Amino acid sequence: MFTFLNSIIFLLFTNVIIKMFTFVKQILLMDLEHLFDQNKEPLLQGRYITLESIESLLIKLSTDNELEIIGKSVLDKPIYKYQIGTGNTRILLWSQMHGNESTTTKALFDFLNLLKSDSDIARKLINSFTFCCIPMLNPDGAELYTRENANKVDLNRDAQNLSQPESRILRAAFGNFRPDFCYNLHDQRTIFGVGSTGKPATVSFLAPAYNESREINESRRKAINLIAGINDVLQQCIPGQIGRFDDSFNLNCVGDTFQFLGVPTVLFEAGHSPNDYLREETRKYIFISLISGFQLLYENDVVVNKFDKYLSIPQNKVVFYDFIYKNIKINYDGIEIITNFAAQYTEGLVKNQIVFKAFIVKIGELDDYFGHYEYDGNEAVYHDENGDFPQLNQEADFYLDTNLKFVNGLLI
Ligand SMILES: [Zn+2]
Repeated sequence: MFTFLNSIIFLLFTNVIIKMFTFVKQILLMDLEHLFDQNKEPLLQGRYITLESIESLLIKLSTDNELEIIGKSVLDKPIYKYQIGTGNTRILLWSQMHGNESTTTKALFDFLNLLKSDSDIARKLINSFTFCCIPMLNPDGAELYTRENANKVDLNRDAQNLSQPESRILRAAFGNFRPDFCYNLHDQRTIFGVGSTGKPATVSFLAPAYNESREINESRRKAINLIAGINDVLQQCIPGQIGRFDDSFNLNCVGDTFQFLGVPTVLFEAGHSPNDYLREETRKYIFISLISGFQLLYENDVVVNKFDKYLSIPQNKVVFYDFIYKNIKINYDGIEIITNFAAQYTEGLVKNQIVFKAFIVKIGELDDYFGHYEYDGNEAVYHDENGDFPQLNQEADFYLDTNLKFVNGLLI
């Protein structure tokens, strides 16, 4: 009887502890979301973020000479460094080395607003860290909305050749600043899912390998532990929507090179969350990742081995299309077939705006794939301007039966 009572008390006690722990975690999350709302930079919105978008903001943020031009791009645009903080832990962050990957740039400005907010958390961060930020490494690519720089070189494959001025500028910043951690900030396409779970990879991480056999040394372990800790926090906001990138070794990639040079490096990939093609939601998750990561470093919580936790983050997999249409009746050369097809957005720069155009990219079996938008035609009959079957690379403008009209992928 006594043992039974003890067990009940123990269970009740455990339950209270678990509830308290969950409560504390929820508060932390609410704080982070509140911090984001307070510090979100309203002048940066959408996908097209250029040097012009950020230059005046940088000047405004530089009240204490934090801003410096550290070189010029191929087309002679300034590349800025914004350095702030007096703390011992040195963090080098660079964004938009791929010109059309702007989500992390937006989050970086939200973070800089926080650092300049004169709040307790800002003071704590500034006293503990020194942040060296290169918010736009590839201003030419940003203007053209291309991954590559103006010479059509992928800067993230130029870490050994250093053939481009932008690559040399980043390498010099790395050498001069001597960081304790590197944050390599990117966007990823909408095609990535978290394994085969059917959830999009809204944020992905990687602790790049430093050698061919992908061993784990002390510095890579720090990056792994940092990611595992950030993942713990982020899972509360977007459960199951966090992926881990493939860690094949390629010394031409900047992250692999910096890891090889002994500095723990974390790759951040901002990805898709439902109906968020402008990446304003994902921007928040990157902000939360940055703050929670610095919190972990502040608490020195990256020394405990979290390799298993890191490995438990499922790998990214190419399993998504923007649109999937299932059970569609097509008429091909007089033969009726029930099939499926998929469409994918292509992003283009038209008159200073990013335009999303949906094109048909796959016809046939799509069993292992998911659509961010899925439509079951229930054997409705396909037709478009050209005939009774979809063709690859045509725009996704079509009818199902006679009454359902799809324009640019969507039913209208
Ligand atoms: Zn990238």
